[in-house]
Amino acid sequence: MSSDSQAALFHGPNSTWELRSAPIAPICDGQILTRVLACTICGSDLHTICGRRHAHTPAILGHEIVGQIIELSPTAPRYDIAGNPLERNDRIVWTVVANCGQCFFCQHDLPQKCQNGYKYGHQQVSQDSSWHGGFATHCTLLPGTQIVKVPDRVDDLEAAPLSCATATIAAAVRTANTIEHDSVLVIGAGMLGLTACAFFKTCSPRILFCIEPDEHRRRLALQFGASHCVTPNSLQLSPDDSLCPIGFDTVIECSGTNAGTLEAIRLVRTGGRIILVGAVFPADPAPIVIEQLVRKHLTICGVHNYQAKDLISATEFMHKNNHKFPFKRLVEHTFPLERIEDAILCAQNPQNIRVAILP
Ligand SMILES: [Zn+2]
Ligand SMILES: [Zn+2]
Repeated sequence: MSSDSQAALFHGPNSTWELRSAPIAPICDGQILTRVLACTICGSDLHTICGRRHAHTPAILGHEIVGQIIELSPTAPRYDIAGNPLERNDRIVWTVVANCGQCFFCQHDLPQKCQNGYKYGHQQVSQDSSWHGGFATHCTLLPGTQIVKVPDRVDDLEAAPLSCATATIAAAVRTANTIEHDSVLVIGAGMLGLTACAFFKTCSPRILFCIEPDEHRRRLALQFGASHCVTPNSLQLSPDDSLCPIGFDTVIECSGTNAGTLEAIRLVRTGGRIILVGAVFPADPAPIVIEQLVRKHLTICGVHNYQAKDLISATEFMHKNNHKFPFKRLVEHTFPLERIEDAILCAQNPQNIRVAILP
């Protein structure tokens, strides 16, 4: 193939972006070439861009990608992981980590921690000249990538976050094992928190609280299924409170702040469960009183990324529920690849939950 492709290369937190054009690299054994239809800018992209997380450069960032199949190598998978046939022109999403299937973690239900894994949108531009990130017109999928076909009813801007935010929340909800009539608290109402509100809403909780400092986001949380949304530190547990006298059965921490985790420990009930999802960049240690964890019989689970089955659940969830919750409205601004710097500035405004690049 000889037609051109283009990528926005990240050279480090204080460097300008480089728009690079190159012929499309021929695909190798087991690979699939996709055209990037949309890539939403994830919070962790912003952490890397600001220097809060380290990246080897130059890199093509962007891992919340929906792509269209252009070419399948003869040895590439012909079915997605849900059993649907894969053909040219299909719209697909895929796991953020291509995993080997053989190492200790792959064999112990943690494929996202594969010791030989490749993480899309996080790696230095490879020597083999093919591109593996979303801030580009094309993305080549490697063997070991778990692919899910996107249903027609899910549009590109709803599909792009499936492979990070939505699937991570699917993993968190699976881990929480929340049952009908439980009380649930979601801390933080960014993309993760809003998605968590919507996901938990479908589990029919007795009450679904959200804690969020920003007023605009609090209003969104109510649209995404929260029964109540309040500011941090305003919720006091009291035996007189008819809604939640003893604390929440399940708390999911999506803000990534130390304050959010401390609120989670304070507001979970004795014997309850906390799922930590948001803290994905280095921060100061949090002053946790260990005795509280012991006396409250707490279960605390960290969830980072997800398994292939969570990407299937995320896609099914979006297929069934995208008319019930305004996911489309979370991506209010879109930019062409050439305006990558404007797109990043726009994404850094906390009023914008997600911004998309349409290469
Ligand atoms: Zn992400
Ligand atoms: Zn592995």
